[in-house]
Amino acid sequence: MGKDIKAYNNILELIGNTPLIRLNKITDDCKGNFYAKVEAFNPGHSTKDRIALYIIEEAERRGILKPGDTIVETTSGNTGFSLAMVSIIKGYDCILAVSSKSSPDKIDMLKSMGAKVYVCPAHVSADDERSYYNVAKRLHEETKGSVYINQYFNDLNIEAHYKTTGPEIWEQTNGHVTHVVACTGTGGTLSGIGKFLKEKNPNIRILGVDAYGSVIKKYHETKEFDVEEIYPYRIEGLGKNLIPTATDFDVIDKFVKVTDEESAHMTRNIAKTEGLFVGYTSGAVVQAIKQYAEEGEFDENSKVIAIFPDHGSRYMSKVFNDEWMNAQGFFDSVNAEEQKIEFI
Ligand code: PMP
Repeated sequence: MGKDIKAYNNILELIGNTPLIRLNKITDDCKGNFYAKVEAFNPGHSTKDRIALYIIEEAERRGILKPGDTIVETTSGNTGFSLAMVSIIKGYDCILAVSSKSSPDKIDMLKSMGAKVYVCPAHVSADDERSYYNVAKRLHEETKGSVYINQYFNDLNIEAHYKTTGPEIWEQTNGHVTHVVACTGTGGTLSGIGKFLKEKNPNIRILGVDAYGSVIKKYHETKEFDVEEIYPYRIEGLGKNLIPTATDFDVIDKFVKVTDEESAHMTRNIAKTEGLFVGYTSGAVVQAIKQYAEEGEFDENSKVIAIFPDHGSRYMSKVFNDEWMNAQGFFDSVNAEEQKIEFI
């Protein structure tokens, strides 16, 4: 029965194998050929589906997880959503310790996917027992048969991209890829892709994107952790105030830093020029491509892959919200009249 029905068995079978889409307008002013790997085509709308599935299945292979056990992580972002999604299908409980800074929307989204959410005070230091790091650690220790994903310090994060995203790019470009550009948060995406592609061809350039306010670029250049580099910024998922072991600094050739404002406008411009409704860090990647192009990184023969990590719908109250843009002062540099909605 059902042999003639062409259906997936469940949503997890749709993870990975995301499309490469040529950028036709937004990079017009740069030498080279540019393609976006659009990770919003994953069923959980972000690249984090890959690591959620891979880390959970690796724990199953190692006999650490069995149905009814528990997944624990500290995130209100894309990883939380992906873990909750994988947990539903595989029959695990999912506990997410999130910061009280997380928007109510995000917390509702995780709850909608069946996760148990613990909201922890944002103002306490990381070593306070109420911090989301310590709450997650405690819940993991107290819960028998639980796995703590710990994406910033988990080698399986790199391995997930080494086994999936990297080979996909190699195949999709018939081995002609010359550059990959990606934002790093945990660093897992760019490190895994970079490790795989450099084994195929060590001349492929692996280019990182960091935020002003993050320590990653300076650490890459000097191996020094410079607290002076740390200050608040708005882009979520990009950069960090610590050094994640899920970043393999050796496979990354270079970093540039991008501003919140330029990345925000670029995100909106990607939607308007390419019809691609993608997240804030996709705008950051295109902004970085412009900066790399100015530095002479590309020529006419370059085949550059930009990683677009997630979908624009996650940013309706931020970059795609005019009031938010205005409140950040981001409309000062552009024609504000053009951005206004007409009420009839
Ligand atoms: N963009 C977004 C929106 C993210 O959530 C993340 C992950 N924190 C990244 C980019 C960076 O990916 P990675 O953690 O693999 O470096």
